[in-house]
Order: sequence, then structure tokens, then C-alpha cells
Amino acid sequence: MINLTIDGQPVSVPRGTTVLEAAKAIGLRIPTLCYMQGLNEIGACRLCLVEVKGMRGLQAACVLAASEGMEVYTNTPAVREARRINLELILSNHPQDCLVCERNRQCELQTLAEELGIREVRFSGEVSAYPLDCSSPSIVRDPSKCILCRRCVAVCHQVQSVGVLAPTARGFDTIVAPEAESSLNDVACVLCGQCIMVCPTGALREADNTEAVFAALSDPSKHVIVQTAPAIRVALGEEFGYEPGTIVTGKMVSALRRLGFDAVFDTDFAADLTIWEEANELVGRLQAGGTLPMITSCSPGWIKFIEHYYPDLLDHLSTCKSPHQMLGALAKSYYAEAIGVKPEDIVVVSIMPCTAKKFERTRPELVGEHGLADVDFVLTTRELARMIKQAGLDFGQLPDDSFDSPLGLSTGAAVIFGATGGVMEAALRTAYEWVSGETLGDIELTAVRGLENIKEAAVELPGTDITLRVAVAHGLANARKLLEAIRAGEADYHFIEIMACPGGCITGGGQPRPQDVNDMNELRLKRMRGIYQADKALPIRKSHENEAVKELYEKYLGDIGGEKAHQLLHTHYTARGKYPRQIKQS
Ligand code: SF4
Ligand code: SF4
Ligand code: SF4
Repeated sequence: MINLTIDGQPVSVPRGTTVLEAAKAIGLRIPTLCYMQGLNEIGACRLCLVEVKGMRGLQAACVLAASEGMEVYTNTPAVREARRINLELILSNHPQDCLVCERNRQCELQTLAEELGIREVRFSGEVSAYPLDCSSPSIVRDPSKCILCRRCVAVCHQVQSVGVLAPTARGFDTIVAPEAESSLNDVACVLCGQCIMVCPTGALREADNTEAVFAALSDPSKHVIVQTAPAIRVALGEEFGYEPGTIVTGKMVSALRRLGFDAVFDTDFAADLTIWEEANELVGRLQAGGTLPMITSCSPGWIKFIEHYYPDLLDHLSTCKSPHQMLGALAKSYYAEAIGVKPEDIVVVSIMPCTAKKFERTRPELVGEHGLADVDFVLTTRELARMIKQAGLDFGQLPDDSFDSPLGLSTGAAVIFGATGGVMEAALRTAYEWVSGETLGDIELTAVRGLENIKEAAVELPGTDITLRVAVAHGLANARKLLEAIRAGEADYHFIEIMACPGGCITGGGQPRPQDVNDMNELRLKRMRGIYQADKALPIRKSHENEAVKELYEKYLGDIGGEKAHQLLHTHYTARGKYPRQIKQS
């Protein structure tokens, strides 16, 4: 251990700890706009400057290792003035159009300017101005608001192993951008939005579709339905002051009705349906010697990743559409017929924790038999919160309401889709009982829960000679490890779940941003607890016991995995190569 003092307070920390982390250990927050523990410790923003007795000049606390006997001062006149000057220099090359900025009142740069008491910017001169990059259906880049903190670069390279963002040029001309300062659509970005989650400013945000949805809601000729993904209910409340992980399902449904949606459905219904189709597909592959391991297909960032980087492994993917696409397809067929509305007059809006789903809904593979896209608009959780605020709804005062039937009934197995390991656990609850014919005693398969990078489990199926070996990965760098093992013939699994985002959908790129990027795992665990509480609270917790799904097969789809189910609920994938222009239809 190293013993030092910070502002006169003694502190002991393990050797190798930075001064910034040592300060945190005694409840002292040193400001920073670039630091992410273990990922981006580069001393770029120069806001964490401190004075150290015996050292000349001020030091960046995020890259300064604590040493024995060190005396650190974080609040001297020299420190305060240096931090102010550095922040004013950043602001002198910044648009400062906070009132019309998406990050207004939720911006780390703005908050820090307030905290450091900046009342004027004493520097003026040339200001960088770059065009907006609106080329992608998912993400808008506004390089004029970029402060070159490089957090997005670190996440894209290290957490997602994609690496399409990098600093280019030098000095004042430096810009963080895709290769050759091109647009995100010209590179193999998977649109996961994890860069948005860590960006401290409005330089990265989702493409906003709220106006288009408001317009659809005002069109009397349209029947507008909405569906909400499992992870929304444990995160939306944060936008209205609730603790992370608080389950706000009832208020969310109420808000959606008050916004004017004609029917409020639950993507969880389609998550249960996915399990019927996916478990059936897995059992089929096991019995017929199909391609194994089979890999889940509900995370569109993950799908885009395998299409770009491992197109030779596409046969491993389940052919199931992602749940919200399934529900969209059913809304424009089964539901349209049931209520006597033409499919072209139905508008499907999906509220998703995900920016990649905005891209997914545009895929030509997901256009139905009437030439209509399954889903018309995808809004992130943040966009829904903005719509609720614009409509003047007092979220906390809304009564609890329930989803509409028939596409709103679901089980606990469906809600756990929102967390890493959830699809696997839900699938195993069903596959176990379908294959063995026995009732699963303890349905909580904790081996696939939690934030470990890659989780593994082996489940014996009684009455058979099968021991199902499964793995779960979240975050694409972890997924890459499993894919390399498959390529090398070293992955001895039957079934793999992969989610593009670390933690799964609960911290997808469209969810409320963290208060502090360095507390991201704590946030994940809180939302995860909400997800498992929601599962526990439901009377039925196995997808194959969902009576509404059973009725759907009896009245409309016919056989599980049958012709109609395939037509509506399954899809195929596209080998894209490393660059989007290299597209081959598989
Ligand atoms: S990014 Fe932050 S500081 Fe910059 S204009 Fe937007 S709200 Fe203001
Ligand atoms: S969306 Fe994902 S893949 Fe694309 S730049 Fe951001 S982090 Fe990288
Ligand atoms: S885009 Fe955002 S996260 Fe990336 S370098 Fe710029 S300010 Fe930082």
C-alpha cells in the first residue's frame, strides 16, 4: 500500500493507483472530461490538474501514480485558475448553443462550466466548424461540439473491438472521425451507440425521430401502435428522477396512452414468441445435426458486427428476427386482420434501448409480404422521455396502466431478455422442459447472470444423453473472442447468446446516459436488479406457458417453425465485408 495525503487527508491505496482514484477513495471528486478508468487514462482534457509538493508545475491527476509520502493539493488558487483557463480554452472553440442542444442540462461540459464558476470566456479566435454527419439512420455526429476527449475512440476500439473512430490530422485541425473524415455510414460501424453513452457533450447523439412519430399520431387515417422493449421499464424512470432500476412499467404504459397511441403492446410478448421459435430451432439443429453452436440473433448491433467481420460464420445465427421486428410483422398481419384495418394504415413504433434498431428497421430483409417494413419508427428511451416532457405529462403522477392484448401479454422469461444472459436463461427454461419432458425445479439459472465477460454453463437434460453446453458474451470484444474460438474449432458449445452492448440492453446505446461514466457497472447492476425483480413479480415465468402465444399459433401461425411462422418471424443475413460497400447477399 502507498500512503499519501490529499488536501491534508491521509489516504492509503494500492501501488499503481492514480491520484485521481486515490482522491475518489476519500470522497473527493477531481473534475475530468476525458477519464475512463482502465479505458481512457490519457490526460487529454487537463481539467484534473493538481499541485504536488516538490513537483514543478501542475500535474494531471488521472495519469499521476500515487507515491509514498506524496502531498497533493486539489483546491489551491493556482489549480482553480489553471482549470478555469483550460475549460475556457475548450469553450472558446465550442458552439455554446446550449439552449438548442440535445444535451442541455445533461451535459458534462456544461455542468463543469457551472461547477467551476465560469462566467465569461476570456479567449476568442478561430473556431472549428464542421458539417453534421447525419448519414446513418442511427447516429448523428456533430464534430463542432467534440472536445477531443477520445472516450468514444476508447470504447469503440477496446470495448467493442470495432475501432472505426480515431483522431485524424494534427493540432488545431484534429478531429475525431471515421477513417478519412468520412461518415459513419461509409465505415463498418455497427451503430451500437456505446460511443454516445460515454460522450461528455452533444457531439454524438441518436438520430431523432420524435417529430415523425408526433406527426403519425396526429394523422387520423393511421392506427398507431407502440411496443416497448424489456429494458425500457427499468431505465425510463431515471429521466424523471427515479433511482436506476426502478420498475416504471405502469406509468410508461399510461404515458404512451396519453401521448395518443391507439394500442400499447409489449415487446416481451414477442420475446416469449422468440423463445418458442428459437428453442424449436435449437432442438431441430441438435436432432438433425445442424450448424452448432447456434447463436442468438436479437441484438442488431451484434448482427451487423458478424456480417461485417465474420461473414463466414453467418450460418451459426438463429434465423429468428429480433422480437420487436416479430411483433411489427404480427401487428401488420394477425392484429390488422383481427381489428379490420389495412396493414398500410398501421404504423408500428418501437421504443428500444438501442440505436442499432433504427438501422435494423430499414433492412430490406425485414420488409413484409405487402411491401411494408415490419416497423415504421424506432425511438430510443431518451427520445420517449423527450416526447413525454414535450407533451407536458407529469410522469410521477401518472396512474399505473396495463398493456393491451393480445400482443401485450408476457412472462418473466421475456423481461429478462433485457439483461446479458437473459435470452439464454429464458431459452433454457423452455428447452429443458421441451426436450426432457420434466418440470424445471429452480428456474433461476444464475450461472448465466451477472457481468462476467464470458459466462459458461452446462445443463443436463434428463431422459436424454444431452448435456447442453452454453456460453454468453456481452460487448463485442468479448463476442470476438468466442467467434475466434469458433473459427479455430475450439468452441465446444451448443448455444451462444451475444449482445452487442456491455451488460446487454439495459445499457444499450439508446438508454438514459450514466451520471458518471466511471460508475457504469454500478448502473448496470441496478438496472439488472430491476429486471430480475420484474421477472419474479410475474405469475408466469416460462415463455412456453404464455397462453396468448399459444393462441397465436392455434388461431393464426399453425406449427412452431412452420411455413407461416417462417414467413413472418424469420429472416436471413447479409455478408457485408469490412467495408459497407462490399455487400454480398447470403
Ligand atoms: S454540448 Fe453541452 S456545452 Fe456544448 S452546446 Fe451542448 S449543452 Fe452546451
Ligand atoms: S456506434 Fe459503436 S461501432 Fe459505431 S462508432 Fe460508436 S461505438 Fe463504434
Ligand atoms: S465525439 Fe464525444 S466522446 Fe468522442 S472525442 Fe468528441 S467529445 Fe469525446
